[in-house]
Amino acid sequence: MRIPAKVIILLGPPGSGKGTQAFRLSAELGIPAVSTGEMLRAECQSGSTLGRAVKKVLASGQLVSDRLINQVVTNRLRQSDCLNGCILDGYPRTVSQARFLDSLLQTLNTTEAIIFDFEVQPEEIVARVGRRRQCPQCSRIFGVQDPSVESFCDRDGSRLVQRADDNPTTVRERLRLYARNAGELVDYYQLRDYHRISATRAPEQIADELLAFLPLRWSGASSVERAHATA
Ligand code: AMP
Repeated sequence: MRIPAKVIILLGPPGSGKGTQAFRLSAELGIPAVSTGEMLRAECQSGSTLGRAVKKVLASGQLVSDRLINQVVTNRLRQSDCLNGCILDGYPRTVSQARFLDSLLQTLNTTEAIIFDFEVQPEEIVARVGRRRQCPQCSRIFGVQDPSVESFCDRDGSRLVQRADDNPTTVRERLRLYARNAGELVDYYQLRDYHRISATRAPEQIADELLAFLPLRWSGASSVERAHATA
């Protein structure tokens, strides 16, 4: 019998910490973090014809088409490292993508998915995104104290950069689109294994809360230790 793959869906506005938590969950569970934003940025950097078209969409804060992103996700989830599951960061963003994902997961024999919906107030998001920097090497995300001072990745020493679409105008557009789609997505998922997460707390606290929601069988030894610790 095949062990069902673990699929974790992270919903929430830009800057709500999905990427940070995806990294943590990935390290804890040994399954990859799949960020559609990262995949699209990699395509832009490749300089391909598709990448040039996508770059314009990202710069405007709009969403790429459902058709394109569904194809990107299909190709990624069929790769062997996703066989035991993955953490989806930034997908689905529309109900049409969510429906597509359900049918894709069925074809991949995945029946279990847990959904975490990160909540942060819009004013807090604009401030957070202004302080957000990313390592161009390992893609880790940092919230820097003082954005006017250069910062470096504590893993590989690379100079941290600001994402091109993390400017106030684009962020406002991204938030507007998020707000337009969020209600329908919540309606779609809320009767499932769906959890609202208050994402204004320290990343460590949020990570602990997420891990506590996961079925024990998903996490291996470390969760067993946690269960003993909290018993
Ligand atoms: P993110 O890194 O998740 O903030 O995504 C950056 C940008 O990539 C978004 O503003 C969109 O333009 C595009 N994008 C990422 N994921 C999706 C998606 N699921 N559907 C459509 N566009 C997406």
